[in-house]
Amino acid sequence: MKHDPSASVAAIPRPSACPGLWRVVSALDGGICRVKLPGGLLTSAQARAMAEAARMCASGVLELTNRSNLQIRGVREGEQSALVAHLLAAGLGPRQAAADDVRNLLLSPAAGRDPAAHLDTRPLADRLLALLQDTPEFHALSAKFALQLDGGEALAMLDHPHDIWLSALSGGTQLAFGLAGTPRDQALASIQLEQAEPLVKTALQLFLELAGEHSRMRQLLAELPRADFLTRLRARLPFALGASPVAPQRSELDGAALGAHAQAQPGLVMWLAGAPLGRLEATQLWALADLAETEGSGELRLTPWQGVLLPDIPATRQAAVAEVLTDIGLLLDTRAPLARLLACSGSAGCAKAAADTKVDALRLAERLGLNGPAQMHLSGCPRSCAAAHIAPYTLLAQPGGRYDLYRREQGQAGFGRLLATSLDIDQAGERLAAGNSE
Ligand code: SF4
Repeated sequence: MKHDPSASVAAIPRPSACPGLWRVVSALDGGICRVKLPGGLLTSAQARAMAEAARMCASGVLELTNRSNLQIRGVREGEQSALVAHLLAAGLGPRQAAADDVRNLLLSPAAGRDPAAHLDTRPLADRLLALLQDTPEFHALSAKFALQLDGGEALAMLDHPHDIWLSALSGGTQLAFGLAGTPRDQALASIQLEQAEPLVKTALQLFLELAGEHSRMRQLLAELPRADFLTRLRARLPFALGASPVAPQRSELDGAALGAHAQAQPGLVMWLAGAPLGRLEATQLWALADLAETEGSGELRLTPWQGVLLPDIPATRQAAVAEVLTDIGLLLDTRAPLARLLACSGSAGCAKAAADTKVDALRLAERLGLNGPAQMHLSGCPRSCAAAHIAPYTLLAQPGGRYDLYRREQGQAGFGRLLATSLDIDQAGERLAAGNSE
């Protein structure tokens, strides 16, 4: 999808606390510039452009978000215009400047490649992204308002809360439809594939009319019963919604399933690799771009698990690519301690943090080795930016740099049950490694 060259370097961003392309948000380690990627896709040329921009205008550190976007950290004072110009020249901007924030459409990183998919979602995704960007009234949507289009891929994040979601049914000619809070197996209705754009357009218009002060669908639906929203929606659509479909059985691959996965295209595999603590250095991104070009199709897909998927690798080159990915410093083993740890920016980057979570996570990884739970999250404060959902175990930083330990439990609000208070990171490591976190 091409950006509009008139989306100028000096566009005025609208107010929001979220970083954007033009809205470089200050942090303790410099500015943060967020680049929204269509379906998480980054070409090798764009990856090099981002690496170069991060090196020339910022600290050289890039952060992978849990919505498959990429942000540049440590943007230096006075370098913002040069940074934006570089990114726009690489085609990383929106179709028009006012549409930067609304490019929120999550796809599986394996879209068009996953053998379990019922539908290649990318053509429809392009049309939905164009709809969001080309309709001025939709530019009023919150920077966090997000759509999800699921093709039925095994490699999919299905527990991420999205305001509106569409999910392909077997056969690929129909989609299930739901709103925030609608469980995946209890879709509200079904539609034909070609009805997706008018449905989304009408649902967004209705949301904006009814939303008032609310910025997210779940906030609106806390006041307005979902059935009422649906009735109003039906009244406006020029077609009848189909009955709620029976959710198809699907084999789900967790995003933590690092490694090589077979593609729908015979003889090709896709490598799913983790970025340690959700970050890459510019040099690592550059090396990934080279690898994608020499061994794959020149595409990188960012994942909502803060990793990278490298598609279109000949199966015969699988082992060679694994070696290079390891040399670059990416994680290929789900059991590796850093592959099981999430950590927010921490006190080095965020004024709200009560601990240096990134440094503590590295120390915790050393202490754990192959022991400990499948996923742990170190959060500098209760906002929990690094995780899209509550992790099985959370270490929540407390004043003085110590941590409270929580375990997620059914029926428990927030991070779950409080297991221990005021642990230093070594004590937390001992407790988690010994498996006596009960
Ligand atoms: S979770 Fe809190 S401390 Fe960590 S980055 Fe977010 S706001 Fe900052």
